[in-house]
Amino acid sequence: MPVREDIRLMAGYHSPQVEAAVRLNTNESPFAPPGAWLRELQAELASVPFNRYPDRSARELRSALARFHDVTPEQVFCGNGSNEVIQCLLLAFGGPGRSVAVFEPTYAMHSHIARLTGTRVIAGRRDEEHMLDREDAKRIFDEHSPELVFLCSPNNPTGRVETRETVEWVLECSRGLVVVDEAYGQFAPWSALSLISSPTFAEMEPVRNGAVGSKAARLVVTRTFSKTWAMAAARLGYLIGHAGVVSACQEAALPYHLDAVKQLAGRLALEWKAEMDERIAMVVQERGRLLESMRELGLRVWPSDANFILFKPLDCDGRVLWEGLLERSVLVRDLTAWPELKGCLRVTVGTRDENSAFLAAVRECLG
Ligand code: PMP
Repeated sequence: MPVREDIRLMAGYHSPQVEAAVRLNTNESPFAPPGAWLRELQAELASVPFNRYPDRSARELRSALARFHDVTPEQVFCGNGSNEVIQCLLLAFGGPGRSVAVFEPTYAMHSHIARLTGTRVIAGRRDEEHMLDREDAKRIFDEHSPELVFLCSPNNPTGRVETRETVEWVLECSRGLVVVDEAYGQFAPWSALSLISSPTFAEMEPVRNGAVGSKAARLVVTRTFSKTWAMAAARLGYLIGHAGVVSACQEAALPYHLDAVKQLAGRLALEWKAEMDERIAMVVQERGRLLESMRELGLRVWPSDANFILFKPLDCDGRVLWEGLLERSVLVRDLTAWPELKGCLRVTVGTRDENSAFLAAVRECLG
């Protein structure tokens, strides 16, 4: 039996899991989570009733996240990584006969998961600086009226955050759900969560006939524990949005999709915000050092509001540099085959030592 076409097409997408001493290809946190969190988790595991299914609606975790973001638990939906959150959104609001707008180049899983759920993908452009191209976006909203709009901010793999004005403009001009994917939100100077907690959002319209209507109710922000929380292995993500969106996602998710250990791990992690903020500050500081050093090495570098940097060698082929780095045991993300990013690579900000190793390897390759 032949494999579905859209699955076959994704065969080349995933980052190769090759051996390298310095792994700067998947935007993880370079730091382990706090040791005290792990000890607390280990202690609490003793009282998990493993013979029972977990809390189906993850009440304690959702309440903890609600307190953390100053919203209500009914506005929080959790999934196995933000990828599953995105999948549930698409299952609930996309599907056959419906469409989603994405703006390329962007996180490839948005359109991949959309296709898997039978949702038509309408791909818009970004401008020279990789920001949303309003003219193209307006054309798409007017012509296709997509049920969902994905804004990745900061955008992976380009790194820039969209402005508050842009997010408000998209809410104004489109009529579907506006999903701001903030997997890297904590590294950026502002978050669309600030719109959700603003007073206008407190008076959200109720859902009528299963449809989510008002501008405020159409904004959804997705977040993950995989990056800033240094918990990629736990596979935990969530969204903050209207209660109607949350209950629709709950319907779309499989029963008991969030295991008890994950619910516990996430809830306990939220008590370590100061440690997370420290890790973010270290990454942001190293990002600045990397950006400056990479420019000095003569690379074309794009500004970043995330924990990674998009770059391109000017005097050699991007793929050749990627191979040269790998020979020196430094693994970065190869984007050279992406149509809008010809010759580009992406490096995740690592520890100070990892970043120095990356810079030394680049210097050797270019020298
Ligand atoms: N959104 C974006 C923009 C990402 O880059 C990633 C991870 N690469 C995800 C979502 C998914 O993250 P996770 O499923 O680990 O939460």
